[in-house]
Amino acid sequence: MLELNKQQTLSFHSELYKLIPQDHLLIRIHQLIDFSFILDFVQGHYNLFYGRRAKDPEMLFRLIFIQKLYNLSDERVIEETKVNLAYKWFVGLNPEDPLPDPSLLSLFRVHKIGAGEVENLLTEVVKQCVAKGLIKSSAVLIDATHTHSKYEASKPLQVLKQAANRLQRAVKKHNSKLLKQLPKMPEFEGEIREQEKQALAYLAHLGETVEELLPDAEGQVQSRLEETKKIVSDERLLAWKGVQSAIDPDARFGWKSATTSFFGYKESIAMTEDGIITAIKVEPGNVSDPKAFPELMKHTSETGLVVEEVLADKAYGSFTNLKLLERDGITPTIQLNEMMLYGHQDEHRDKFVYHKDSETVECPAGQHSIRKAKMGPKDGNECQRLTFFFDVEKCKDCPLQEGCYKPGAKSKTYSVPIIPEFKQKAVEYHNSEAFKQRYRMRYKIEQKNHELKNHHGLANSQYSRGLIGMRIQAVLTAIVVNAKRMVKLASPKMA
Ligand code: SF4
Repeated sequence: MLELNKQQTLSFHSELYKLIPQDHLLIRIHQLIDFSFILDFVQGHYNLFYGRRAKDPEMLFRLIFIQKLYNLSDERVIEETKVNLAYKWFVGLNPEDPLPDPSLLSLFRVHKIGAGEVENLLTEVVKQCVAKGLIKSSAVLIDATHTHSKYEASKPLQVLKQAANRLQRAVKKHNSKLLKQLPKMPEFEGEIREQEKQALAYLAHLGETVEELLPDAEGQVQSRLEETKKIVSDERLLAWKGVQSAIDPDARFGWKSATTSFFGYKESIAMTEDGIITAIKVEPGNVSDPKAFPELMKHTSETGLVVEEVLADKAYGSFTNLKLLERDGITPTIQLNEMMLYGHQDEHRDKFVYHKDSETVECPAGQHSIRKAKMGPKDGNECQRLTFFFDVEKCKDCPLQEGCYKPGAKSKTYSVPIIPEFKQKAVEYHNSEAFKQRYRMRYKIEQKNHELKNHHGLANSQYSRGLIGMRIQAVLTAIVVNAKRMVKLASPKMA
């Protein structure tokens, strides 16, 4: 049952709020953003008529907002709000009102915010920004950044054992008597690959047994079962390219540069030239940047913003992306990547992914090409192909070799044909002075990435629950930095 914001009934002590300076950041944010959209967003996840009275969603959302704004833990934001007049005013309580238990913040994030399309919260804030006329630019900058998982990556055997232990512990906590009915973890024997196969079979059996014993499992048992299914059904697990943490099963290794990797997530971000983040998409660290592009553009257009130009680096300079922009009459100030200059991407071949930082192609099993070469006529004829070579030694043991590698073949390559029209157009465009001038503006999104990571904690994952936890964190962080930027845009001298 919902209990709505009670600040309407101001107490005698609320006179104290007159002491808060009128230019306080939270007062300015409150004047610019109507946070009541959170009610519509979470309403479907409450029982409106039965059950204990739920705390006001807007109050909880505002607490989480303060938490992100000042980079505080759940416990700390509650402690600080008890003694900070501005915080307490902002969340809509009277000075003498009690605050909720910190654990409620985590429950609200996971079960209420996490139950919906969390990206829509950001869209709501940007819509308000557009409606207020704070965005003057029609150019959108797109870039990606990364977040380290707070958990370590492990080898498949450890992941399988850890997942089995976590599921057993959850069952024990739910009903310790059931533990005896679960299959015991055997001693795995033989070579490491053999042990992994045994552990995988054991985890699958354990998961099925738990499902039979608790067909209507809820809470922790249910989430551990989901985790187990994700691990058991992961085709890339035993190739050491799939799930690498039972606690954070969506985190993956990605590349920061040709030589530096990270374990975690990748955020693709769209931002107006005046610094408002219009869309953010979070994916496991191994996903290539361009995949997020259409979604970023879609979410951006849903804010009501009319986009006339997109600025992005060569990771986004693909055939598909440029075609999408051409369709919508948007100027692509985008550096063209090698695939675009020399090849053609089509959706049937997109299981192979080009990584611009390492200049390699990644195959469906997660193997990176070891070298590349231009093949075909060298007389300027545009029928040349760019060919990427893979290590056949790895292909020989690959579980995904069917249809990809012919046993006994001496090489495994992936080629892309050269498309003359695009190459010509790209070269022409890259040589223009206008392109160079505009492309320099990309530094602005790099500054925004720095702010997200170094001032608001996006450098490391903070919540559990894998991808959904990371999406919640990224969207909340984007809302906070947008609110700060809106205050500056609304006060032109500060912008
Ligand atoms: S056969 Fe080779 S190229 Fe094909 S998916 Fe397996 S490792 Fe990758």
